[in-house]
Amino acid sequence: MAKFIFITGGVVSSLGKGIAAASIGKLLEARGLSTAIIKCDPYLNVDPGTMNPFQHGEVYVTDDGAEADLDLGHYERFTEAHINKDSNITTGKIYYTVITKERRGDYLGKTVQIIPHITDEIKRNIKNVSKDTAVDVTIVEIGGTVGDIESLPFLEAIRQLRWELGESYALNIHVTLLPYIKSAGEQKTKPTQHSVGRLREIGIAPDILLCRTERRITKEQREKIALFCNVDREAVVEAADVRHIYEVPLSFKKEGLDDLILKKLNLKREDKDLNDWTNFVIKRLKSPKNEVRICVVGKYIVLQDAYKSIYEALVHGGIANDTRVNIIKIDSEALERGKVDEKLKGANGILVPGGFGDRGIEGKIRAVQYARENKIPFFGICLGMHVATIDFARNVCGLKGVNSTEFDKQAGNPVISLLEEQKEVKNLGASMRLGAYPCKLSKSSHSFKSYKKDIISERHRHRYEFNNKYRKSFEKQGMVFAGINTGQSLVEIIELKNHPWFVACQFHPEFKSKPDRAHPLFRSFVAAALEHRGP
Ligand code: GLN
Repeated sequence: MAKFIFITGGVVSSLGKGIAAASIGKLLEARGLSTAIIKCDPYLNVDPGTMNPFQHGEVYVTDDGAEADLDLGHYERFTEAHINKDSNITTGKIYYTVITKERRGDYLGKTVQIIPHITDEIKRNIKNVSKDTAVDVTIVEIGGTVGDIESLPFLEAIRQLRWELGESYALNIHVTLLPYIKSAGEQKTKPTQHSVGRLREIGIAPDILLCRTERRITKEQREKIALFCNVDREAVVEAADVRHIYEVPLSFKKEGLDDLILKKLNLKREDKDLNDWTNFVIKRLKSPKNEVRICVVGKYIVLQDAYKSIYEALVHGGIANDTRVNIIKIDSEALERGKVDEKLKGANGILVPGGFGDRGIEGKIRAVQYARENKIPFFGICLGMHVATIDFARNVCGLKGVNSTEFDKQAGNPVISLLEEQKEVKNLGASMRLGAYPCKLSKSSHSFKSYKKDIISERHRHRYEFNNKYRKSFEKQGMVFAGINTGQSLVEIIELKNHPWFVACQFHPEFKSKPDRAHPLFRSFVAAALEHRGP
């Protein structure tokens, strides 16, 4: 049976619980254990699919088409854990199931309550993930901060699970903060004591404390935290700030966190180093040979998390090319006003990511035009492919009234239009074309050169598509249909002739990139940017 690690967070939000969970997964996998990782989100949305990126950051998409929390992206980037629609449990999803069962009469006249019905449903979902697969350890991250009303049912569920399974089968790790008070010149332990106090009030005693800190923890502080929080001295683990997120597993390893977890879960595995990770990922992150400048033109650029996977995939493309990618974030609306060349000057590559709605669209189109005319490597993703198509139709083919019907329903030349299957869709939640679909690449394309194979599978999240009516005429003008979903006859990748690297895809390659295995398109895009930069 799988063993469980429950990860909670205290004191403040944004402590990097997701990266901690992913890093623990990485450490355990390095010791030969297989993992599953789950994120529990205490909000009432069934999934984050309908949430604004400004509120929630990027919506991550899995192969099986779940719209999920972005922490799942960290899990997939750091580990080999199998992530799917069951990996993200929200309060909304749990209530939805319980209320559906109640309406069906499944509870046989009982009063349906948070305890036991909601908590039982949470436990069933958590256990379900490792039920049919050979998973050694399931890591469960509980979103939110201890003390929030919202997360109480999740905390009660993990309290019960620990009681049912016993201590060598379930482990509680609490991520906390030791703030440094400059005027006092001191690192404070009190918030951690209070946070652990809150956890113990609801019956959860942490086994390990992961203490986020800017400064080293002294021996005395360790003693104090251990004594007042009732944990072993060795279980007070320093989680110091590091420069790159990919260094976190190494810093945990240095603290002996993997040994500690193995000991507490009564698991025996040979010690292994993380040398491959260090030599490839970390070395190239810290001291790359080259440098390029890539402009990302989007409308959510002020928010760090809205294009999370894209930024990470660019970093991975950089690692693969031994190159530092300096990402310049450009607000697409600003390109509608000012001079485009001033804003995009010095770019070795331009990327337009996915998005919804018409705000900033004309700015994105101008960015594509600039990349196309100045022969700067261009990478368009989903909406980025739509704007690339619009630019081509307007400025290469000279068509009038060109638009996507997402922005202008009456467009005279609707070069991007609603997918047939979307025409009847009424509800916005989980109703896009979602998840993995196959695509066939044409042998002479940049894409084929990048993937080095002709059948690929990539993840989708869209309602609109390239309008096939324009395929023939655009081809004549120099557009290359490099990737096609042959079953549905959908354009998946467009490229341009007479351009060093112009690739725009309907799918989201960023979700399948890893630090030590950059996605082929991101790897070639950075290589093309490097080429553009010159020696
Ligand atoms: N808004 C576009 C569509 O629905 C693009 C979606 C995206 O970029 N993910 O097709």
